[in-house]
Amino acid sequence: MATRVIVVGAAGRMGRVLAATALQDPEIQVVGAVDRPDAPEIGQDVGRVAGLGEAGVKLVADLAAAIDRADAIVEFTLPEPTLEHLEVARAHRKAAVVGTTGFSPEQMERVGAIAREIPVFLAPNMSLGVNVLLKVLPLVARALGPAYDVEVIEAHHHGKKDAPSGTALKLAEVVAQALGASLAERAVYGRQGIQPRQPGEIGMHAIRAGANVGEHTVLFANEGEQIEITHKAYSRQTFALGAIRAAKWIVRQPAGLYSMQDLIG
Ligand code: NAD
Repeated sequence: MATRVIVVGAAGRMGRVLAATALQDPEIQVVGAVDRPDAPEIGQDVGRVAGLGEAGVKLVADLAAAIDRADAIVEFTLPEPTLEHLEVARAHRKAAVVGTTGFSPEQMERVGAIAREIPVFLAPNMSLGVNVLLKVLPLVARALGPAYDVEVIEAHHHGKKDAPSGTALKLAEVVAQALGASLAERAVYGRQGIQPRQPGEIGMHAIRAGANVGEHTVLFANEGEQIEITHKAYSRQTFALGAIRAAKWIVRQPAGLYSMQDLIG
């Protein structure tokens, strides 16, 4: 039986690609599409908004009115609306896939509390490539050891709201942890003026320009050599495919907070 999903943020950059990808997957049924009340696409057909033919599902603003038709919501919006929608999913005992990034530590605690009652899949990057990178980075960081400087550089389109990206934070966090520290202790966000590098720092740099879908580099260097590990996403479909895979998987899981690491094993 097809997994029934509601695309939340369906008028957005990710939402449109997600809807188009989901509508073309025979194992997925798009039973709803949600965006904010003042979005011009409210009332339009989700297939048309996604650049396909009529799908028979209109964009609405009220998730609560639509959610009972679904097995899961799949959300790419902003942190605060995502939390409101997770509360709706909790009230209706539905699963959730969250691609939204930029949660504060306090907001992450609220996500964690909701995930005690419903299955929540949260991944700041839904691509297989980045998630494989998250697995190998600790090995690289440990093998090189603390004498190597670490910098994380990311680039995204000029419309991206949060910085650094959720992916950059996650990449830096696994490196910090592999070196026995937390990112909060090690991160330095950009540099300006007289600010010499301190041992153990993890420099974080965000470029915002043009239409870049997402590029991340983790750089390790000492005085004699440099390693750069780069991931480039060529299209948003990479993330959409990961989110759809997550939706099919999360509906079979008990309550809990899951990541792509749980899915790829
Ligand atoms: P976007 O601004 O193009 O789209 C966001 C959409 O959310 C908009 O259509 C907006 O109207 C809608 N929205 C805002 N408030 C809402 C509300 N209260 N109710 C319903 N809809 C609401 O942004 P985007 O580029 O699509 O990115 C969205 C999020 O997804 C960002 O946090 C981004 O970092 C993240 N993202 C994650 C991945 C991943 O793999 N996890 C990949 C790409 C983007």
